[in-house]
Parts: sequence; C-alpha cells; structure tokens
Amino acid sequence: MGVRSAFAVMAGKLTAFTLRILGKGATSLPGVVMLKLCPNILGDLAKDIKVICVTGTNGKTTTCHAIADMLTANGYTCLSNEAGANMINGVVSCFMNAASLTGKVKRDYAVLECDEASLKHITKSFGGLDVTVVVTNIFRDQLDRYGEVLTTLELIKKGLAFIPQVKLVLNADCSLTSSLAESMPHKDVRFFGVNCAFDHNSSSGISDAVYCIKCKSKYKYHSRTFGHLGDFYCENCGYRRQAPSVAAQQIKAFNTGSADITLLLDGKQYEAQITLPGAYNIYNGLAAAAVGKVAGLDDSRIIAALKKLTTPFGRMEHIALHDKGVELILVKNPAGFNEVISFLTAHCTGEDDILFGLNDNSADGTDVSWIWDVEFEKLCGRIDEVKTENQRFFFTGRRGEDLEVRLKYAGFDTNRFVLEKDYRTLIQKLRKTGRHTYMVLSYTVMLGFRDKLGEVVELKKYAR
Ligand SMILES: [Zn+2]
Repeated sequence: MGVRSAFAVMAGKLTAFTLRILGKGATSLPGVVMLKLCPNILGDLAKDIKVICVTGTNGKTTTCHAIADMLTANGYTCLSNEAGANMINGVVSCFMNAASLTGKVKRDYAVLECDEASLKHITKSFGGLDVTVVVTNIFRDQLDRYGEVLTTLELIKKGLAFIPQVKLVLNADCSLTSSLAESMPHKDVRFFGVNCAFDHNSSSGISDAVYCIKCKSKYKYHSRTFGHLGDFYCENCGYRRQAPSVAAQQIKAFNTGSADITLLLDGKQYEAQITLPGAYNIYNGLAAAAVGKVAGLDDSRIIAALKKLTTPFGRMEHIALHDKGVELILVKNPAGFNEVISFLTAHCTGEDDILFGLNDNSADGTDVSWIWDVEFEKLCGRIDEVKTENQRFFFTGRRGEDLEVRLKYAGFDTNRFVLEKDYRTLIQKLRKTGRHTYMVLSYTVMLGFRDKLGEVVELKKYAR
C-alpha cells in the first residue's frame, strides 16, 4: 500500500464520516474522492483478496447475497456492496469501509455486485488478481436502460477484456450469456443451469433472444424454464447450450420460501434444498453453488449452505407490519416481473392482498410501457379462482394509475382497486386491513416506501 493510496483511504473515510454527521448516505461520494486522489485505488485495496464480480440483468443482488452466505458459512470473511451501490464509486466506497486507517483490507473475499455498464470500470483495476466473474443472465431491461440485449453483452465483454486470467461462471441456459465463453481466450469456464422445464404454468412467451446469436436462425428448445432461458440449440449452425457442471437435474417441489431439487455437482447427484423463494431464484442458488466449487468447497458444505440462504433487501423481505405481515418484492423489468407473477399465481390465496407500486424515475425506467409486457392476465385467472370478498389490490407510485389501467385490461375487478399515493396514508390503510400483503414495487418506490415503513416498524438495516 503506497502513501498515495493510504492517503486516499483516509480522505475517503473522512468524507464518509462528514456525510454521516450531515445525515446523508455515504455509498458513492467517498469513492469519487478516492478515485480522484488515486485512480488505481481499487487495485491497491483488492490486491490480497479474492474477488468475485456478479453481473447480468436479473438476480445480481440475490446471487451476491447467496455467494456471501455460502462463503461466510464456510468460515471465510467477505466484504460486499449489497445495497446495490453497484457502480465503480460504490464498489470503491465498500472497500474503503472494510479498510483500516492505513488502507489494509483484511478479508478473504470481495463479493461485488457490478452494474453491466460499470463492469469495465471496476475490472480495469483487477488485472493479475484472482477474479471470478459470474454472469446471471441477459434480459431486456426497462426499454430505456441499455437498449438492446446485444449492447449489454458487449458491455460485459469489455469488462472481461481487462482480466484475461478470469474464472468465468456462466448461465448455460441463456444463449447470450453462454456465448461469453467463446470470447475468452482460455477455458476456465464453469456453467450452471436447469436441466428440466419449470413446471409452474410458467412459460412466459416472451423471449429476448429468439434468434441465434451467430446465424440468426430461430432457436429450438429441448426444455425451457422462463423467458429465453432453457436447453436451446440452433439447427442451422450448431450453436447450442453447453452441459452445465452445476445443475438442477430435477425440480421436485416449489415451496413458499424454497425449492427441493436434485442437484448435480460435477457429475455427482444430491438431494438438495435451495432456500430462496420463487422458481427464478433456483438460478441464483445454482450460481452460488458454482462459485462454491470455484472456491474449492466440499459438496456437503455447498449443500448445507444452500439450505440456509437468506434473502437480501427488497427480495421477498418479510416485514411485521401487523400479525399477518407483508412481503416486499422488487421488480425491475418484464422478465423479472413475470417470474414474480408466476410466484404469485402459484402462492396467492384469497387471504392475500397485493400492492403494486410504479415510479418513472431513471432508476425505475422513465418509459413505463414495459408493464404491458407483463402477463397480469395469468394472475387474474388465478385471482378469479381464489378471491374472497375483502381482497383488495392497492396501487401506489407516480405511475400507479398506469398499473391500474394495465390490470383493468387484464380483467381484474376494478371494484377492488385502491389507489393511494401517499405512502404514510397507505401504510395506515394496510395496517387497518391487517391482511397479508404482497408488495410488488419498482426500485424507487421500494426505497421510499420502505423508509416510511421504517417509521412504524423495526426494519433490518442495510447500508446505503
Ligand atoms: Zn445458429
């Protein structure tokens, strides 16, 4: 650690300290200051640590959380930017938080959620280090975010170009993600995937990758899980899914907060449980298991850790607003929202209310037309079967009315609709009903609404 980087760490800590005194969040600005003083600060701070970067469209936060759970359960120490501060400044700040005043970081691993566009700014400093990059999947995000899926793919490639020594962990079922293996000059690649179809009346017809990335012919599938994920192949040019070494061979049961699977680890089969809610989280658990293999953990330890995973901020977070409690669920794009719809379709009873919240700030996506790609019709069918007299659908956020219109067209009974834009008033209303409620919220609604919930109930603290 040179004088310059030690000085940068002190300046960063001083900045963070000052911000906290002022009652402001300190996830980004300290990073800005430190990078100004020492452009390679990240490389200096990370040089004795194993780095795991997680990128991709959906599941980054949950996957990071699962990886950190798995490593800490096995006695390793981790630093992690789990609050979603996933651009370069946030990553630098999180290293600073873990560093001593002299700039020493005493951790075994850094588990870093990396925004797809920021990956290259982060990996730039990691040349020569022990780095693993996990790519969860590539979906179309809100329309105005990075444009098309191929743009996202290129962004990730640029990030990988800085670290030729990288160990890659890729989703075999995503034809876009798995193509990254070929862009790397060496063969240290591990694939994870699901070797069967998801049996939860899923299959959203939406596909963000219909045509072969190499020859533009239409993909065919032996089995599909959701979106464009599955055992794909191209009849024309032969591009096909790589057999994953870490896989869900069979899905035996979906429970409310977990899934029972037959797990394949390097050719050996085990009965295992991934303790995360929703079918889509099976992938995130498998990604963590694959990282467990990279880290050299015994199979039995990987399986034990999968059973004890916890959910991160806003991902099916249970909050004791009243006896029945409420669940917070974050949605960001059509593919993720459709998986939440599948979850609700499988689990929503007449005793559950649902709150939908949508903003159009840049972090949510300013163009909200993507909600028309979400298959609310499927949920409506289920609601018709199970509804009870007092079941309500609440709407909030700057674009709450757009969601109302969308659900009206999906066939929901508008007599059960309640629009309430004031979060405090809404919380009072929800408290009064005392009913279990699923709260499906876009990013900035989640932040604002959760803050107001914090005024009336004790919440788990997350660094911001
Ligand atoms: Zn092809």
